[in-house]
Amino acid sequence: MGEARRTMDQQMTDRPRSAAILAEHARWVARAKTPHVGFAAAQGRGAILVDVDGREYIDFSGGVGSLNVGHCHPKVVAAIRDQVERFLHTDYAVVPYENYVEVCRRLCEAAPGNTPKKALLFNTGAEAVENAVKIARYATGRPAVIAFEGAFHGRTYMAMSLTSRVHPYKAGFGPFVPEVYRIPYPNPYRGITTDMVLESLARLFRAGVAATDVAAIVVEPIQGEGGYIVPPDDFLPRLREVADEHGIVLIVDEVQTGFGRTGRMFALEHVGVEPDLMTVGKSLGGGLPLSGVVGKASLMDEPVPGGLGGTFPGNPVACAAALAVFDILQEENLLARAEAIGRQMLARMRRWVETFPFVGDARGRGAMVALELVQDKESQRPAGELTRRVVRQAWEQGVIVLQAGLEGNVLRFPMPLVITDEQLQRGLDILEQVLQAMAAEG
Ligand code: PMP
Repeated sequence: MGEARRTMDQQMTDRPRSAAILAEHARWVARAKTPHVGFAAAQGRGAILVDVDGREYIDFSGGVGSLNVGHCHPKVVAAIRDQVERFLHTDYAVVPYENYVEVCRRLCEAAPGNTPKKALLFNTGAEAVENAVKIARYATGRPAVIAFEGAFHGRTYMAMSLTSRVHPYKAGFGPFVPEVYRIPYPNPYRGITTDMVLESLARLFRAGVAATDVAAIVVEPIQGEGGYIVPPDDFLPRLREVADEHGIVLIVDEVQTGFGRTGRMFALEHVGVEPDLMTVGKSLGGGLPLSGVVGKASLMDEPVPGGLGGTFPGNPVACAAALAVFDILQEENLLARAEAIGRQMLARMRRWVETFPFVGDARGRGAMVALELVQDKESQRPAGELTRRVVRQAWEQGVIVLQAGLEGNVLRFPMPLVITDEQLQRGLDILEQVLQAMAAEG
């Protein structure tokens, strides 16, 4: 209560316009949508957000990884403007348009593997996941779906059923979609190996569900909300083998890992695996809602005409933005940039692991980098409350970071890849000061 009171008072003096908006928020917006920060956005450019009181923040959150090309990239804005002048909506299933086809073509060309591909567009990551599962069930005629502990696939009923974390995502929202089975995800920091996971899968086939009843395995190539957990390189290739052995559709969810985040267009490219179906979203739309399923054409073509769709999926304005995103990633070399950002971050963060007793692990691939905070390094007990305090102090000091992990004890930083070195280092300086302050508090 004391802290909340102090924060409110400070908020009124430091950020009066934000405080006024947040007071209205409390009055009109249901509490399920509670913001992480105590300010309201006024403008964004690149990796910088400015609030309604004129304060500047380095945005290490990037709309939770949806802004790989940055806030208001001029090419994205121009493409949107251009499309807005032409037409806003038809419903592609009624009247088609070219930029939808173009986005599908570019997704198919960019997706890993040589098997001929087709794609479909949707609005959100959850919707893409829902539709990937529908395609897999339709094509195989099988009911079951396997997902992983720590997984996040969205909040609609199928996606939520696949999502792992109970609080706040699932508790009280059941019943869930039936026929979802769960096994552990590898975790190098916590000693869960590929062998252990594949043994769990084999056991599931003996003790939980017949492999011949499984339509799909849904997997993130690097867990996102689960805490940026990078599995060992043999995990996805071996999972691919198991899926092939049993005729199971391998659905790889690249919603958070896609579009350059890990230093490749898709995280799967690091391990040379071709998925049967892949879900994409977030940064695809450059800030507008757009998602997709891209996969082997033979599978994608299974559902009958009209079997999949919706009113707004693949909206032409979002498609125009997406085409700009594809161009920008290439023209500005943002995949290489993601690698460089990741190198800089990990170089500094590995020092934090040595310096701070509560920084247990620094890990990542490309610019998908996270810090795991623990109560002490021996027990590795998660330090969720400390992580929450770091997130809060960080934005108060001018850098927006995100919490992740089943226990909420991971800090993640899916910043725009257009961030400058100066902004990156300034953001890391602030974060280091916050960690120092926490260490001083003891
Ligand atoms: N899959 C993954 C891997 C995600 O990270 C997310 C969102 N964090 C989703 C699916 C759901 O996307 P959306 O919030 O757009 O429904």
